[in-house]
Amino acid sequence: SPTALAHASGVPAHLFASPEVPIERAALHDALRLLDLHAAARTLDPALGVEALALTPDLHRASPAPVGTALLTRGFLTPHLIGNDLGCGMRLHLTGLRADDLRPHLDALERELRAVFFQGRRALSLSGRQREALLRGGVPELLAAPRPADQGGLWDLLGAQEPGPAPQVPFVHGPLDGVQDWLGDRERASFDTQLGSVGGGNHFVEVQEVAAALDRHAAYAWGVRPGEVVVMVHSGSLGFGHLFGAQLRAWAQAVPGAPMPLLPDGHPGVPGVLDALHAAAHLASGNRLILACMVRSALGRALPPGVLADDQPFPALSDAPHNFIWSAGDGRWLHRKGATPATAPGPQTPYGEPVLIPGSMGDFSYLLAGQGHPLALGSASHGAGRRQPRGAAMRLSDADLRRALDTLRVVTPIDLRAARADIRARALSALKQEAPGAYKAVTPVIDTHARAGLARPVAALRPLLTVKS
Ligand code: 5GP
Ligand code: MN
Ligand code: MN
Repeated sequence: SPTALAHASGVPAHLFASPEVPIERAALHDALRLLDLHAAARTLDPALGVEALALTPDLHRASPAPVGTALLTRGFLTPHLIGNDLGCGMRLHLTGLRADDLRPHLDALERELRAVFFQGRRALSLSGRQREALLRGGVPELLAAPRPADQGGLWDLLGAQEPGPAPQVPFVHGPLDGVQDWLGDRERASFDTQLGSVGGGNHFVEVQEVAAALDRHAAYAWGVRPGEVVVMVHSGSLGFGHLFGAQLRAWAQAVPGAPMPLLPDGHPGVPGVLDALHAAAHLASGNRLILACMVRSALGRALPPGVLADDQPFPALSDAPHNFIWSAGDGRWLHRKGATPATAPGPQTPYGEPVLIPGSMGDFSYLLAGQGHPLALGSASHGAGRRQPRGAAMRLSDADLRRALDTLRVVTPIDLRAARADIRARALSALKQEAPGAYKAVTPVIDTHARAGLARPVAALRPLLTVKS
């Protein structure tokens, strides 16, 4: 590993895989099709082209491009590649709480999480200035924005947060075209109700226990201690990302022979596209912070007084988008679709960039240190990957699913144990897509990263409780 892939374009393309992690041929085929962008772009201008393609170990089929794709272009963007959920990403917070101190109170935590996530206790309203600050500059700007005097609730917690690692998304200076509408009165209410929602499907919020430190130096330096509770969040830009996405894609032009439209650098639409993309990514990371704080508030209520001090820090160790386009300098653009940045050790990150690779609600998740592999374009997997396409996972029998759920704690909008039979059946059927059996085993995916030098495993995390909507 890696395997060099041959293509008529001659563009360097590498697949990071191993025999223990099966990869669909169709996904590989779809990924290689992206290299047809090279010749298509050159018909517009011979200075344009694709510079490299990298495919991560969780490569699997998705629309419009496989999950696990990193594509480096020169002189043009291809905004469709990164899909609808702009800025979708993972975030991890440390709690300073011992899992042993939490375990006796998991029933109470389940109740509190259901209340805050699904029973209307989140009541989060933003001032116009906070909303604009969030879109333009993300978490640091949101936290720095003046806070209305009467803003209580979750804001008391949010207000106490440190900005944490900013996911390196440029500030939006432009006019936020196409966003004006919902900065106005009409969409204000909708904005506030969407913030703090998990989003459906593969998105989740999980309370986990550090099961093992695999690299003790990095784990120690990052404050990750075996036996402690951490909070992992996977969420995107919600309905607003789709609005931005429409904006993002509207400008791109179809070119004969190209698998998807492209947008040359000189095009007048480029600044608006980048603003839309960056606003969506800021919104997504802000939402991840809010979701994490909702868990923090539930923990505070579920635990007896004194177990978790109100002023106990709740730092974010990592926050990164996995559907995004980064400027790579010299007119080059790095597109990642379902792949996460895993840059090499540097002055800011002496162990490498913290990388999150979740497994499933019934498997480990991992924290790793990026190694900045050049042929992987400094990327890593953002998950274990689906075992089968979405529809297929539905074949899991009800009995199998119930057996899985009996051993897991999953908080869903309805209480599966208390709900009426028909409601429960519908909820179970939706959950099948997300049952552990729907995903590949994560440990071989992690081993592949370690062997290939993509990222070094730092800690294994075990789920205590998963919130899914
Ligand atoms: P994807 O965007 O690829 O569908 O989802 C990202 C990854 O999240 C999946 O590949 C899977 O490994 C992981 N994942 C999905 N649901 C859960 C969950 O409930 N808990 C954890 N820990 N991981 C999950
Ligand atoms: Mn995602
Ligand atoms: Mn998403």
